[in-house]
Amino acid sequence: MNILVTGGLGFIGSHTVVELLESGHEAIIVDNLYNSKVDVFDKICQITGKSPGLFIADATDAAEMDDIFSKHQIDGVIHFAGFKAVGESVSKPLEYYRNNLVSAMVVAEKCVKYKVNRFVFSSSATVYGEQEPPLKEDSELMPTSNPYGETKAMIERILTDVAKANPEFSVCLLRYFNPVGAHKSGLIGEDPNGIPNNLMPFVLRVARGEIEKLNVFGDDYDTPDGTGVRDYIHVVDLARGHLKAIEKDSAGVSVYNLGTGSGTSVLELVNTFIRVNGVDVPYEIVGRRDGDVATCYADVTKSLKELGFKAEYGIEDMVRDAWQFEKNKC
Ligand code: NAD
Ligand code: UDP
Repeated sequence: MNILVTGGLGFIGSHTVVELLESGHEAIIVDNLYNSKVDVFDKICQITGKSPGLFIADATDAAEMDDIFSKHQIDGVIHFAGFKAVGESVSKPLEYYRNNLVSAMVVAEKCVKYKVNRFVFSSSATVYGEQEPPLKEDSELMPTSNPYGETKAMIERILTDVAKANPEFSVCLLRYFNPVGAHKSGLIGEDPNGIPNNLMPFVLRVARGEIEKLNVFGDDYDTPDGTGVRDYIHVVDLARGHLKAIEKDSAGVSVYNLGTGSGTSVLELVNTFIRVNGVDVPYEIVGRRDGDVATCYADVTKSLKELGFKAEYGIEDMVRDAWQFEKNKC
């Protein structure tokens, strides 16, 4: 198949393009470089020995997208393009609603117009709000406390309505848990602009000596060591989940969690990082971060049964591969 990948130069998109190319598919990347660098394209070519299509274009631009769809035979779309920083979405709500909603609507509109009937969307465990884990796909969408989460829930609803109105259109909503790690080549990985918010990019900057210490947000949660527990998933596993989703032959809407089904605390992750990589990560326990839940992990029964998806990599692989990519950047 020929798959259009919006946001294909970003963290998850680039790994997914590699998996698509390595399993015999073709890919066309659309990215506006808002949060990525164009040399990721060369790295994808270097890893795979193949050269996907590339358009430096904005997915919210209906005319540009029409041009791309009209000139290529596209069999499916994986839509990653969007803004993703939760905290920033609170201070820039209009930018987040506009970029995330409009890009999804424009791409879906072109799919309907050009009869591209497979659409895979990057959703997030954030749509579960503060429900008790393990989180199951049939739980209700909960209101989230930030515009980023709202955009994910809204796009899920919009795509569901588009699928209802167009019976041949299939939508797969993938709810990611906490993607970390990097490709084993060390050539592509997570390279956020500015000061990171998420745990792993922060740990990497501390390990590199760029930031003095990690603030651990709370050690008084009801968890085994008191620190927050999350379901970290290796980005290559996550990318393979997209391959399964785009290859799945079904009409209508399907929803799958992409996680490992088990949780790791902040201190477990940090201590595994220190042990596996032999580098120090100074940290200090500070107060809880607003809006954080104690524990979040996926119920993976449905994605295993219906999608045949099972994460293969563990926390040691995630911290090793993430550090290897980070060292290569230095
Ligand atoms: P990323 O920022 O690394 O990748 C997103 C890419 O989209 C970037 O390359 C950016 O330049 C591009 N982009 C943004 N707006 C665009 C637009 N209008 N037109 C074209 N390109 C545009 O982020 P990521 O971590 O790879 O996340 C990919 C998707 O997965 C996002 O939708 C994100 O919300 C979702 N997601 C990510 C996580 C996570 O923890 N990384 C968790 C859940 C969901
Ligand atoms: N966390 C932390 N220090 C940081 C960043 C995150 O202690 O600098 C904790 C956070 O409180 C949570 C876990 O690490 O328990 C994962 O946070 P992240 O932001 O990566 O993911 P999310 O909370 O969005 O699932």
